[in-house]
Amino acid sequence: VRTLRIGLIPGDGIGKEVIPAGRRVLEALPAYLKLKFEFVDLKAGFEAFEQTGAALPEKTVDILKAECDGALFGAVSSPTQAVKGYSSPIVALRKKLDLYANVRPVKSVMTAVKPIDMVIVRENTEDLYVKEEKTYSGPDGKVAEAIKRISERASFRIATMAGDIAVRRQRLREDGASSIHKSPLVTVTHKSNVLSQTDGLFRAASKSALSAARFNGVTVEEQIVDSMVYKLFRQPEDYDVIVAPNLYGDILSDGAAALVGSLGLVPSANVGEGFAIGEPCHGSAPDIMGKGIANPIATLRSVALMLEFLEEPAAAAKIYAAVDANLEAGVLVTPDLGGTATTEQVVEDILNKL
Ligand code: NAD
Ligand code: MN
Repeated sequence: VRTLRIGLIPGDGIGKEVIPAGRRVLEALPAYLKLKFEFVDLKAGFEAFEQTGAALPEKTVDILKAECDGALFGAVSSPTQAVKGYSSPIVALRKKLDLYANVRPVKSVMTAVKPIDMVIVRENTEDLYVKEEKTYSGPDGKVAEAIKRISERASFRIATMAGDIAVRRQRLREDGASSIHKSPLVTVTHKSNVLSQTDGLFRAASKSALSAARFNGVTVEEQIVDSMVYKLFRQPEDYDVIVAPNLYGDILSDGAAALVGSLGLVPSANVGEGFAIGEPCHGSAPDIMGKGIANPIATLRSVALMLEFLEEPAAAAKIYAAVDANLEAGVLVTPDLGGTATTEQVVEDILNKL
């Protein structure tokens, strides 16, 4: 039996309603999977900031680093005006734990939308998000500039992860996971026709990473980011795994999430060497907080995704299948999907299907 110690960081708003659901699903996994879980409750977010003066208390980071194998992060509320001393805890966590990849699967089940089953693998540490900006006055007035930094190492590393994910997804399909795809495909996204050095380096390093022998069975394609958006919206069913530099990945992944009908369905994981934080894509949803109707599925899928990166694909597959079965039946679903079920009823149904 393997024991995994999981940090639970509910954060604010509906984070407090969906993270407990994640814990329950882990506790309900069948015994034959030979997994045991221990949980540590940790603080982060706006409420933590008001209570302790830190949006990401040091204790949270220390315990994650010293004791935990993985974590689940709910959502945090960000104040609309800048508040002195407050900055996003998830951005800080990504830096402190070197979670270099943001992985976002986007999958449709219900029939109202086109069939979609893709994963966007976004580089999480560089590109324009190094935030090296400056403003100065030139002869024509004010000018603002930002550095776009692309390194061979980070590009190689993220493309390798995309290849590994494509291989793993293929293995899950061979083990019976439902999917619209028959063979693995990685699409490398860039704009190297214009940005020949920065995006050119991303493209070259990605292609080199994906030419490794273990990716022999994976088809590798490349696409220019703007035409990619067009195709992504017209033919989302064509995409399997997409790898992109930070900014394009950010935009593509929010756009793709819009294709499946509700933010309440879309999970993500922040992944580094030997550590993963599962995180639903939605925010703290103050408009529905406290009503008991938040859709828990984004979180449950984030739990499964975290397990994939902790090398527990069978447990992950179990959770994905139970979630898909709930959505396919389409009866016990929350109001964001047109149903009348509560969070509790959806969780109960999924636990039964486990
Ligand atoms: P939001 O994702 O919280 O909500 C957008 C809409 O989607 C709302 O109508 C909400 O009710 C609905 N929704 C979201 N998750 C749902 C779920 N699980 N089930 C059912 N409906 C759901 O985005 P917002 O309203 O723009 O932001 C609210 C707060 O969350 C802000 O303070 C924002 O800064 C923060 N936020 C945090 C994160 C994060 O922690 N990663 C992401 C986005 C926004
Ligand atoms: Mn974004």
